[in-house]
Amino acid sequence: MKLLEGKNALIFGVANDRSIAWGITEAFHQHGANIGLSYAGEVLTKRVVPLAESIGCTFVEMCDVTDDTQIAAVAEKAKAEFGEIDILVHAVAFANRDELKGHYYETSREGFHMAMDISVYSFTAMARAFQPILRPGASLMTMTYYGAVKAVPHYNVMGVAKAALEATVRYMANDFGPQHIRVNAISAGAIRTLAAAGVSGFKTMHSHYAEIAPLRENVTKDDVGQAAVFLASEMSRMTTGEVLYVDAGYNIVGVPETVE
Ligand code: NAD
Repeated sequence: MKLLEGKNALIFGVANDRSIAWGITEAFHQHGANIGLSYAGEVLTKRVVPLAESIGCTFVEMCDVTDDTQIAAVAEKAKAEFGEIDILVHAVAFANRDELKGHYYETSREGFHMAMDISVYSFTAMARAFQPILRPGASLMTMTYYGAVKAVPHYNVMGVAKAALEATVRYMANDFGPQHIRVNAISAGAIRTLAAAGVSGFKTMHSHYAEIAPLRENVTKDDVGQAAVFLASEMSRMTTGEVLYVDAGYNIVGVPETVE
């Protein structure tokens, strides 16, 4: 059964075939959505364009989400291409590597601003720019992580940013609810991607993940893609303002069982 037939989906954040945004794109494609992609900048063109071609997607737009003019330009082009948008995916985050090691209290003012601007405000900026072309029943979603609610070593400013992002989800869900537009987040378990590689100690943390998570498996971008289909489809029509954990249950563990 295809759950997204006839729906127009715009996905921000594909960097390569390991990106969570790509897992979501593939799942949406399998479920029949019409897809548009947006990516950060020139250096990614040679990776993103062939990926888009592999699913027959012709709407591929560059956009630095720190620039409102660029976001507005993508919204304008999306209007011309699709008319209205049913699904908007924000899978974008950035912090300088220097901020993702050592202690949180050592975060620089500049590093804090940059992480918040790219990883949090951009979701609000996207919602504002796309609001005029969102169809009633539309679904907006972003990607968060457990470091929003618990202190995770080295995740630092990104954890603070994710906490702000989760609050953004609740405020926007309240704003957009009367237009029958839903806003949710997926809190994904650790997945080896470009962004994750920037977090000091990520590899070690990732290698122990499946020993601790109740389902005893690592999460994949495809698992996140399936959950995104649920949030994008009518199956979740009464769910908004939520953080959906797709983490093999990792977040519910208080004390991990001793690994033998
Ligand atoms: P990724 O590196 O593939 O994706 C991050 C994306 O952000 C890239 O496409 C990058 O180009 C984009 N980006 C950065 N700065 C940008 C800018 N100024 N303008 C436009 N785009 C910009 O890594 P990912 O792990 O797939 O990350 C996607 C989302 O998932 C992020 O929000 C990340 O925090 C979140 N997440 C990741 C994990 C994990 O373990 N990988 C877990 C939970 C949540």
